[in-house]
Amino acid sequence: MDNAFTAFFRKNSDYPTFRSKKDNQYFIIPQYVEGSGNRLVIPMFKEGIRFRDKHQIPEPIDQIIITRQVNRYYASIYYESDDKPQKGDQKNGIDVGLKVFATLSDGIQVKNPRHLNSVEKRIKKQQQKLARKEKGSNNRKKQIIRIEKLYQELSDKRTDFLHKVSTAITKLSDTIVMESLNIQGMMQNHHLAKAIADVSWYRFKQMLQYKSEWNNIDFIEIGMWEASSRTCSRCGWINHELKLSDRMFICKSCGLEIDRDLNAAINIRNIGLIKVGLDRPEFTPVEIATSAELFNRRDLRDVGQ
Ligand SMILES: [Zn+2]
Repeated sequence: MDNAFTAFFRKNSDYPTFRSKKDNQYFIIPQYVEGSGNRLVIPMFKEGIRFRDKHQIPEPIDQIIITRQVNRYYASIYYESDDKPQKGDQKNGIDVGLKVFATLSDGIQVKNPRHLNSVEKRIKKQQQKLARKEKGSNNRKKQIIRIEKLYQELSDKRTDFLHKVSTAITKLSDTIVMESLNIQGMMQNHHLAKAIADVSWYRFKQMLQYKSEWNNIDFIEIGMWEASSRTCSRCGWINHELKLSDRMFICKSCGLEIDRDLNAAINIRNIGLIKVGLDRPEFTPVEIATSAELFNRRDLRDVGQ
């Protein structure tokens, strides 16, 4: 409080306010943190705090940030690592969609995980129950906590899915191309399924971006309208009659028959590669045709199912 008022009188900050208990709170422990078995030892708790993760606690630790979400505490551990980068040799364009979560230009498709739907259904059911509880009652409070926990479960499962997919793609790629997402449009969307998908795509892209940076992978972003799903990825012919419901792209010029999302992913990849310079010899029509054939093996890898 003393610090807050000193800052206020020195005109460095606004008049101090109370911190709401409802806020998601966090604090930083900048030094003297170490691991001991499965416990995190920080200056105030010499006996250590039990820490649960599939990874071992790294050392030495630079600092940790403790955050709280609903009824759980998380420790983000900052440390220096000399891990080798994980990357492959593919140049992947990625198309994201409602029907199929992600389509790679090499033909791999990742479906939306079904187990998320069941949690969503449970949330809906519990929310109907909440509507029948009396305002201000203890039962209502309990019901709200029940729903918050379900949301937490949903969020954990979705995060897990996004991490698995983005890590798998990272391991395949040395270049990743994606379209920019329409944030403005995302905010205005009132269709729930679409809104949830928007948030997932956004986080998916963020994960791919920072994992690319960690692993020395080129991440290229292209404009939303640069790669059209109406353009044939082999010859450039434009299908003006392509409808949203059409799952296949059929080219009347070169005869290419290809999944529409795969066609879009290949266009995204090609435009991204043109953007960083045409000096990439592997970008040839023959290569694209080979990629299209690979599509038949799309069920080879189904991440997150
Ligand atoms: Zn064509």
